[in-house]
Amino acid sequence: VMNDRLQKVMAHAGIASRRACETLIETGHVRVNGSVVTTLGVKVNNSDRIEVDRVPIKRESPVYFVLNKPKGIITSVKDEKDRKTVLDYFKHKVPERIYPVGRLDYDTSGVLLLTNDGNLDYLLTHPKHEIKKTYIAKVDGIPDEKDLDRLRKGVKLEKNIKSAPADVKLLKKVGDNDQSGLIELTLHEGKNHEVKKMLNAIGHPVEKLKRINFAGIEVENLEPGQWRPLKKREVRDLF
Ligand code: URA
Repeated sequence: VMNDRLQKVMAHAGIASRRACETLIETGHVRVNGSVVTTLGVKVNNSDRIEVDRVPIKRESPVYFVLNKPKGIITSVKDEKDRKTVLDYFKHKVPERIYPVGRLDYDTSGVLLLTNDGNLDYLLTHPKHEIKKTYIAKVDGIPDEKDLDRLRKGVKLEKNIKSAPADVKLLKKVGDNDQSGLIELTLHEGKNHEVKKMLNAIGHPVEKLKRINFAGIEVENLEPGQWRPLKKREVRDLF
């Protein structure tokens, strides 16, 4: 969920400068979800109701996009080392303050949703909702049926942490001497680096990873680095 300082959100909604918004907060003019807030550290997200002198501020309307994320791009909103982020593709094209729903690793490509809708973010990233994600992994060597069965049942990722049951199949062998395998995996959870850890656990490390489906959304004909707004029906089906 996007968390921003109250004064920043107010300023963005056109109430006043950020400094002047701080003064409005400190002098008791501002309510969040019905309660007066007078301290400046408070963070709010898209679903919080903000009022100035009892008048609700106008929030951005929700927008939804899918990006075909290329590898070599970071998913976070900002990077300390100033590397390119997924948001750079939307700069000067989308005025809303969007952010990615969940994450893909730097070297992973494929389906990445972006939105300014904190409700959707919550719906899709909270583990209890068990959102479906499908990946194609190119792995070193060819896993046999026993290896795949271990993935299907769940493997140990770290001390006391196991992957949940997954749908797994070997699509084909690739490479000059069939030295790599293409595996399709469908997961209903998203632990940190989960696919890589799962495949490490069976001794077939990932060489390449692509997400082809997230909560029913696919990139369709987008090239890496291209994005499109979600269709009405895609948005409806997410909720
Ligand atoms: N699992 C991974 O290991 N990496 C990703 O980017 C996504 C899922």
